[in-house]
Amino acid sequence: MIAMDKWQVARLLEEISRYIELSEPNPFKARAFERAARAVEGLETDLAKLAKSGELTKTSGIGKATGAIIEELLQTGTSKYLEELRAQYPPGIFELLRVPKLGLKKIGILHSELGIGNLDELEAAAREGKLAKLKGFGAKTQEMVLAGIKFARQRESRFLLPTGIEVAESVREQLAGIAGIEDAEIAGSIRRRLEVVQNVNIVIATKSTEKVLAAMQKRGIVEGLESIDERTAKGMTRGDIVVLFHFAAPDDFGTALLRATGSTEFIDAFNTRAAKNGYELREDGLHHNGRHVKTPTEEDAFEKAGLTFVDPERREDGSDLALKKRRKLVELHDLRGTFHVHTTFSDGRNSVLEMLSAARERDFDYVGLSDHSPTASYAGGLSVERLKEQHAEIDSHRETVAPLRVFRGTEADILGDGSIDYDDKTLAKLDFVIASVHSKFNMPKDEMTERILNALDNPYVTFLGHLTGRLLLSREGYTMDYERVFEKAGARGVMIEINGNPNRLDLDWRHVKRALALGVRFSINPDAHSIREYGALLTGTWVARKGGLSPKEIFNTQPVDAIEAYFAARKEAARNADRR
Ligand SMILES: [Zn+2]
Ligand SMILES: [Zn+2]
Repeated sequence: MIAMDKWQVARLLEEISRYIELSEPNPFKARAFERAARAVEGLETDLAKLAKSGELTKTSGIGKATGAIIEELLQTGTSKYLEELRAQYPPGIFELLRVPKLGLKKIGILHSELGIGNLDELEAAAREGKLAKLKGFGAKTQEMVLAGIKFARQRESRFLLPTGIEVAESVREQLAGIAGIEDAEIAGSIRRRLEVVQNVNIVIATKSTEKVLAAMQKRGIVEGLESIDERTAKGMTRGDIVVLFHFAAPDDFGTALLRATGSTEFIDAFNTRAAKNGYELREDGLHHNGRHVKTPTEEDAFEKAGLTFVDPERREDGSDLALKKRRKLVELHDLRGTFHVHTTFSDGRNSVLEMLSAARERDFDYVGLSDHSPTASYAGGLSVERLKEQHAEIDSHRETVAPLRVFRGTEADILGDGSIDYDDKTLAKLDFVIASVHSKFNMPKDEMTERILNALDNPYVTFLGHLTGRLLLSREGYTMDYERVFEKAGARGVMIEINGNPNRLDLDWRHVKRALALGVRFSINPDAHSIREYGALLTGTWVARKGGLSPKEIFNTQPVDAIEAYFAARKEAARNADRR
């Protein structure tokens, strides 16, 4: 058994506290587990070691009862108490939390009084007027709940791509041990690398669907796994994520994978084109003039139907099916370096040397450090004095990290009027400047556009950071006239970054085509605040691929000498620019 880390333990403690709140009138009991979860999360020492030393209950927030459960979780991977609680409620019970104004207390009452355990049951009961009669509910609450169900359905199970991948991979791993499964691949919007996804799709190649399904049910791979038709089964993870399994004979695996990957629009376009060659994608495989054709791989399906292979990321619509040759999309290993890296000088969690060493370990040829500017005081923005200190520190490490080349930059604030948060003299000392909006997000569109256009006119600016400032599933980005911004960025030679932070993924891939047409070049940047966050280069690469970008359109696929020459040329031009 793999030892649980503190995050997993904290999640289970939280789950216990949620269950207790459903049934227990005494609020202190639930809170004790909640507090223990927070305490475990905040531990600086190793949880397992702490438990071994017997000092667990000496930690503030962990009591005798919660401590015993933590130890049990660490030793067995679960707890009897938690299992008992789980057994008392249907697996969908917490999806009711998605209904606004419905808290755990009320959900507990709905379950104990009316046996309600999921959204459908809640809706039925509310429509029948059963809620209005319940103590503490009333007609008004019933109405609110009905409206809330609609809302909950709309945002039902929407989650970020990395969560989806994690869930899908772990489900797929569990399938590996089941006899009769010849292959299993992740499909759906996760395979298309859509930034926000709604469910997990997995295609399974097998000759004995029923046996495999029964084995999956027995193992409890997901909760409530049931077949919904001959070839599909549906279940749900503990985290309320719907998982769909698509079963196919090994000879039809390619076609099943293609269909389950979607999108609907792409599959329609595929069928329209394939029909001209006499082919059709059907539930039971590819057919040619009504006869079944074997397609063990997806490539087979494209090839036999006479169509050019389209990478999954490019399957939102059918446009790439018109291409004569497969599009060469950028890959992570095409990146030879990166920019937009923070250090402890501002709000990063690793030092200059740590960030540089990690870049070298990734085999990068170059890296560009860029901490915040003074206006971003909340993020420890650097004064001109501190910037100098950072430069001295960078210079002191150059030999240590060679042959990695280090560029000195900044992520400078675009102020309200579009000016940049350092004077020209300071900017001239930097190799590159990322200009980003970090304040006044709510400006009217026209003003925001002018603000950004002004920033692009600053000759020292080399990159435009996180274009819209959006935070997926939580904050809409600021608006602007994209046409004008792209046009200006293209004309001025300012690169628009593809910010790979999975919460941002900003530039939106939907904008890539238009920006490219207007002459924009892109850079895939991690916006890393720690060594681990260099990982955002992978998510950033997915965005670039989804936008249809090849290596030559990405700045940081270039060799270091080309990068250096570009920066030097821009700085030369900036010095000569007429800056009245
Ligand atoms: Zn930023
Ligand atoms: Zn940043």
